Amino acid sequence: MSVHTLPRRIASPQIAVVLGTRPELVKLAPLIHELGPAARLLHTGQHWDEAMSGRFLRELDLPEPELLTGVGGRPRAGQIAASLDQLDAAFTAERPGAVVVQGDTNATLAGALAANARGIPLVHVEAGLRSHDRAMPEEHNRVMVDHIADLLCAATEDNLANLSAEAVPAERVALTGNTVVEVVRAGLPRAAERVALLDRYGLRPDGYVLATVHRPENTDTAEALGAVLAGLGGLGHPVLFPMHPRTRAAVERFGLTHLLAGLQVIEPVGYAEFLGLARHAALLVSDSGGVQEECTVLGRPLLVVRRSTERPEAVAAGFAALVEPGEQLATMAAAWLADTRSRLARLAATPSPYGDGSASARIAQLTVELASAELHRAA
Ligand code: UDP
Repeated sequence: MSVHTLPRRIASPQIAVVLGTRPELVKLAPLIHELGPAARLLHTGQHWDEAMSGRFLRELDLPEPELLTGVGGRPRAGQIAASLDQLDAAFTAERPGAVVVQGDTNATLAGALAANARGIPLVHVEAGLRSHDRAMPEEHNRVMVDHIADLLCAATEDNLANLSAEAVPAERVALTGNTVVEVVRAGLPRAAERVALLDRYGLRPDGYVLATVHRPENTDTAEALGAVLAGLGGLGHPVLFPMHPRTRAAVERFGLTHLLAGLQVIEPVGYAEFLGLARHAALLVSDSGGVQEECTVLGRPLLVVRRSTERPEAVAAGFAALVEPGEQLATMAAAWLADTRSRLARLAATPSPYGDGSASARIAQLTVELASAELHRAA
């Protein structure tokens, strides 16, 4: 699929953007800005609170979304069913020219099924990611969405190859880059603000570890969570740990509070603050998908505490490595921290594999073309 240069802010049919979690708000923000008044936001409420949504809507300057009800806190099938019902009603009351979803969450799948049920063109942002780990619900979500999408926006050549291996027709697929590049560039606070930020936490540039964990494989059992926390606690470096609500609940449920003693535990922080802290960390430790991409734009090393990754690019480019929680995490972290200066110099000279910062402009243009063609067809 080719990308032509379209004038910005062209008249566009309404584009429904369905989202429900923090990473979707982050990654879709630049696309929503590109779409301007054509964008209609529908938030499923999967993560709906001030720390995980409200603050991000304001910080990323997003319009107030229409909020679905009764979704958050339910098991996966209930979340999808409740969202699907309400999205169907919303799309029937006012039919959009296209529906955009991003990534692999339950909101992604619900938005995709709702578009499919009404024959509305479907755009999948971040198509073609594969962990090949069938134990992850996210893997099933992304595979299902890719196979019903009309426009698949693949961020990298690896993602294109995954789609081609599953025989997804090439004419539905576009290589766009990942919107994370532009969102990090826009969101990173200026140098002076970053100095103040580090001061606030008593941290020295290149002298601390920033860690986040929240995935089921690290939080669903006391053994796994205990291994991650013990690994972090033994690094001999200050460790700043913005704790995800799911992780906090698991620490309390398993009685692991004592393992937090050596860590600087804080509430989840806003996006600019997270980027500012990540920008000067000697090491990032995370199981997050987004952080695996952000580290390549920020030029920081990352240990990914996961069995598998659907984002091999950061590993291939030398930014990241997969580690098991506990012993391997501690050993790798010690080795990487001993080599911080040369590693940071090398990474600063390595380009991000996620594109050139114009993914959202490309995706917006292709989405508007798709929606406009649909409108002409229906007229
Ligand atoms: N993030 C944030 N504040 C925090 C921790 C993470 O803004 O305290 C951002 C992070 O930069 C990334 C996103 O949240 O862009 C990742 O969200 P999460 O780890 O929940 O989801 P995933 O990326 O794993 O899907």
